[in-house]
Amino acid sequence: MNQRPSWLFYKTDNGIPQLLSKALNQEQFKEVPETHRNDQWNLYWRGSGFTLSDYKNVKTWQILNHFPKGNTITRKDSLARCLKRMRMVHGTIFNFFPVSFNLPNDYTKFLSYFSKIQSKKGKQVWICKPSDLSRGRGIFLFDNISDLLYDGSTVVQRYIEDPYLIGGYKFDLRLYAVVTSYHPLRIYLHQDGLVRFSTEKYAGSVIHNKFAHLTNTSINRNGPNYNVEKERVGAGCKWSISQLRAYFQQCSVDDRLAWERIKHMISLTILMQANSIPESAKQCIELYGFDIILDKKLKPWLLEVNFTPALGNDCSADVAVKLPMLVDLLTLAKQKITLPRPVTDHRRKNNNLSRQAVILKEELFTRRRLPPIDPEERQEDLNHFDDVFRNRFIMDPAETERMKAIERRVTKIPDIKKTGSIIDQNSKSHTETDSVISNRCSTVSSIRSQRAQIRSHSSSSFRNNIASYPQVANSEYKVGGFFLTFPISNNTQTYSKGATDIAKSVTEIRNSLRISETNFKFMPAENRQLHERTTVNWNVMSGFKQT
Ligand code: ADP
Repeated sequence: MNQRPSWLFYKTDNGIPQLLSKALNQEQFKEVPETHRNDQWNLYWRGSGFTLSDYKNVKTWQILNHFPKGNTITRKDSLARCLKRMRMVHGTIFNFFPVSFNLPNDYTKFLSYFSKIQSKKGKQVWICKPSDLSRGRGIFLFDNISDLLYDGSTVVQRYIEDPYLIGGYKFDLRLYAVVTSYHPLRIYLHQDGLVRFSTEKYAGSVIHNKFAHLTNTSINRNGPNYNVEKERVGAGCKWSISQLRAYFQQCSVDDRLAWERIKHMISLTILMQANSIPESAKQCIELYGFDIILDKKLKPWLLEVNFTPALGNDCSADVAVKLPMLVDLLTLAKQKITLPRPVTDHRRKNNNLSRQAVILKEELFTRRRLPPIDPEERQEDLNHFDDVFRNRFIMDPAETERMKAIERRVTKIPDIKKTGSIIDQNSKSHTETDSVISNRCSTVSSIRSQRAQIRSHSSSSFRNNIASYPQVANSEYKVGGFFLTFPISNNTQTYSKGATDIAKSVTEIRNSLRISETNFKFMPAENRQLHERTTVNWNVMSGFKQT
């Protein structure tokens, strides 16, 4: 038997960053040799999107690092447009994005909003960002309308004027989310991430100092204070999320509600585009970089979502965060790869088929074998996930107690018919098919309401509750790996307006996005089966070496 490690093969167009190359090597991926046939690779990594024919021709042993149409949320203007629409339909649950206007289209709307706010609250600061640029390019702040000069598609956004500061410095968070499937939707959020500081102290009134107001590394790296030891922050401009959490713990700041909110914000944002992704896009995986800022009350605000987030290696925090994240990402990708069995002469002759035909046949066979979902197994997995969720992310016994206390104050998912009327009002084109879907959802969700309970609480009682719990030990935050997020499922909590938000979020969003219950399967089991199958198949990778 072949005891050597079985290599997988990746291909790329323009080379790959050093950290990714390291992770690929660690996960036993080699660059595809020129001698390989066209389809003899397992992972295609590209900075930009793929063509239609790439998606059409992808095989079950191959993975592309982008989903078709997976970039709606990654352009500043379309993110703003979508989130605005979602907030109009679903209300405060989408209140995590600063008020934004897309120029030039919304210029008159912006003017009237600007003057209304100014007459009510006095001078307000806004930030102006070109829609299609990144790394802080072209961004400026203004509080006077005459300073607004723009060229081309631009987003103007309310500036978060009261950010949470550390040692007087502003920071934002870069979190990594991986989508392994849109149908069903499966999102993994990495436990670690980056904290990116500005390099000059924050002074709200001096709005033109980019080293104080922007937290982009590409800008601050060139600032005069980059290498200076800064109060609390130290030299450079990056921390890891684990460092931040340790800092919060030291200062007795309870940040758990903020992380809950962040998880929901990420889930809801990705969920927004789930319906536009073709169901046939199975052999894809996508890494998104979420930029989030915390205000002084620790409320998170989404700034933007990055398509192919930077994988550069500027400092030790980059290595500590990105390398394990990429290794985990590749592990997730590997679970989606089903390797073909080697085509031996014996098999080919027996089947009397060409080598290509044997491969195709195999592929069809594996597609058909993708596991049907057993509802019981699924519930088991939800429980399993719950354990993982509690133990790995939150992890302290006090937190588990808190969860139990919340469960005791449980509210059940309301009857879908009640929320159905809200959806009817909001959706003008309520077709027959939609109602079939919504009926199906209603049956499943009423079953679900009996067994899977929504944990609900008012924000004030939640805060009072968590205030009395001891802090989590430092080392416990340092668990690597992605964990699965549950968008608006039985883990939904509300932050602002009480229980009505939850009721809306679960059924209404699902229905109006036309996503049926089947699209909300969060099943590690399927992954496990796939994983078992792929690890079994791992050893026959030599199949690729035959010609
Ligand atoms: P880019 O893609 O160019 O990095 P971002 O939207 O991420 O654009 O903005 C760059 C930086 O500007 C952010 O890292 C953050 O520090 C700051 N910033 C952006 N929008 C806001 C906002 N609404 N309030 C406060 N700061 C913001």
